[in-house]
Amino acid sequence: FIDIRNLRKSFGPATVVHDFALAVERGEFVSFLGPSGCGKTTILRMIAGFETASAGSITIDGQEVTDLPPAKRNVGMVFQAYALFPNMTVAQNIAFGLRVARRGPDEIAARVEEMLRLIKLPDIAGRYPYQLSGGQQQRVALARAIAVKPQVLLLDEPLSALDAKIRVSLREEIRSLQKDLGITTIFVTHDQEEALSMSDRVVVMNEGRAEQIGTPFEVYNYPRTRFVASFVGTLN
Ligand code: ATP
Repeated sequence: FIDIRNLRKSFGPATVVHDFALAVERGEFVSFLGPSGCGKTTILRMIAGFETASAGSITIDGQEVTDLPPAKRNVGMVFQAYALFPNMTVAQNIAFGLRVARRGPDEIAARVEEMLRLIKLPDIAGRYPYQLSGGQQQRVALARAIAVKPQVLLLDEPLSALDAKIRVSLREEIRSLQKDLGITTIFVTHDQEEALSMSDRVVVMNEGRAEQIGTPFEVYNYPRTRFVASFVGTLN
């Protein structure tokens, strides 16, 4: 469903992504797992269209999007820090993309209500982001991303600013929402447990390269390199 070939990214003389290739199936949940600076976010930004590729191609559902602007890619994204609009209510935040897409007011109202039910926060439509907990803010960010029914959902460390207990419950919520909606998802994290517990497949990254791509069982039990073994946690 997402087909990435020979993807490369250089900033000046520094190449931060080397010949990256990955095929993601429709409805699949794939994690990019690796230490800080290994290029996870850069690849995600190239898929979303916020960063241009130095070489290679990205195809989504049969359409090459490598040089398309972000708005033409039908991709939703949630970032690490809650990127909600602080001067808009929860409902206005969720409605934002629908307004840009010029949907009618009745459709927007119905969709916002549906999204609030999905994230299990039916009563917070009129609140402002500062009146919400971190976990609630990330749920709203997720609702805003999926309200426009994107064909691909990109999550960049969406749980890393939250405390441990909420992280675990949100993992499960994100995963069950993703399954119910059947939405093809790429999840970036440096947290091994998060990647192993949530994903259909994990891409273990190091220094701009995929060291191993496999199911959580495969990368945990059959690490292909020393780096994978040490990073995934079987070798200390
Ligand atoms: P983190 O978890 O810390 O965000 P990451 O694996 O997502 O790490 P990237 O953010 O993709 O890593 O960064 C990969 C490399 O590219 C880093 O060395 C970073 O310094 C470099 N880099 C990222 N963006 C730019 C930029 N706009 N200009 C120059 N170098 C950049």
